[in-house]
Amino acid sequence: MRKMKVIIYPSFESQFNEVKTQKRTYLLYGRIYDDFTVCHLIGMSLSKNTHPIGLLTIGSIPTEERIITREALEYPYFHITAEEDLSNLKVDIYQKKGDRDSNIEVDIEYVDLNRLFVRIDQKETPLKVLNQKKVAIIGMGSGGALLALYLAKSGVKKFIFIDDDLLETHNIIRHICDLANLGRFKTKAVKDYIEARIPNVKIRTVERKFELQTRANFDFFFSLLNDVDLIAAVSGEHNVNYAINDFVHSNQLAIPIIYAGTFDGVKGGLLFKVDPQKDDYCYHCLYSKPNDYGSIQTKAIPTTVELERKISYDRTLQEQLAQPGLGLDVDNLTILLSKFCLDVLLTGTEHGLYHFPYNFYMWFNRTIMTVDKSSVKYEGLELYYYEDLGKDQNCPFHGTQTFHINNQEEEEE
Ligand SMILES: [Zn+2]
Repeated sequence: MRKMKVIIYPSFESQFNEVKTQKRTYLLYGRIYDDFTVCHLIGMSLSKNTHPIGLLTIGSIPTEERIITREALEYPYFHITAEEDLSNLKVDIYQKKGDRDSNIEVDIEYVDLNRLFVRIDQKETPLKVLNQKKVAIIGMGSGGALLALYLAKSGVKKFIFIDDDLLETHNIIRHICDLANLGRFKTKAVKDYIEARIPNVKIRTVERKFELQTRANFDFFFSLLNDVDLIAAVSGEHNVNYAINDFVHSNQLAIPIIYAGTFDGVKGGLLFKVDPQKDDYCYHCLYSKPNDYGSIQTKAIPTTVELERKISYDRTLQEQLAQPGLGLDVDNLTILLSKFCLDVLLTGTEHGLYHFPYNFYMWFNRTIMTVDKSSVKYEGLELYYYEDLGKDQNCPFHGTQTFHINNQEEEEE
């Protein structure tokens, strides 16, 4: 006897309950897997609203000689007979015309979406708190996408994804999205990926680069981001990180930011939290950028940061594009990043996750020596932390000088 597992989704069940007293035939929507051994019932309708996307005929082949016809697409199919409840379904499978198999043993399972989080809804991870959090992720590359997935699987329900990049073939071996998504915006592909796993998440996607040069850009991002609980800056682009830093600080937004990026062929990466409410040193303090805000002199900065600057951001384009690091090298850092984000989102609660006491961390996927011949060796697969790296006296937000940092008025002329 042939066996069929029938998975009943809530959407199907509620539709069924609405019409179950009316004796009619409906079209079924859902999925059939593995030669009718698994069937997902998702919806039902009287009118056909999903169908094969079409047929292709090359050349002028007479209709009667066409091998593929619309009818050929319709077989095999199955026919379910139900009474006024779903507990006793009878299934017939039609492989082709006149070939009916009624000898089917049906095993019904109901999808209960309330059970999705049942094993992590513990004191360790206060779900009710995470459910209310809204996270903006700027950069939907392999790191940003995986971060989004982990946060959604941890219970975060509201997201904004910002990226103008399209999914390309070379992305696939690191990115969570697959070949079926080539050419799509990464934001939209990741949204679909997550929604297929975690229902009831609210994801807004923005297919733009995070840039503030015009008043319109600024207004757009201000209305978009002013109420988020965390910004994850994971574009891997220095200028974007500067813009995020300036945006939050110059508007005195109380939004923590976590910057994350990899360096030197993904030999390692960094995690850097800035919480304006805690008066933390900022991205600008660490990476003073001459010329942008007048004549800033780079101050003597700690060796560790000197190292990081040398191996991460002073790269040629060619070096940046070549990243022999494996996807798992990016994922290693992203898992730590996800934990860092959860710790920030759960600030003020008694959670049982790892607490990150410092603001700046570096992670090394391999054991490396410093490039400045100071012979400092970093062991691979260890998280290094740095205590207060200090504010920069030339930082426009934390220094002693004041700078004209907002050029919006000039552009309005
Ligand atoms: Zn600063």
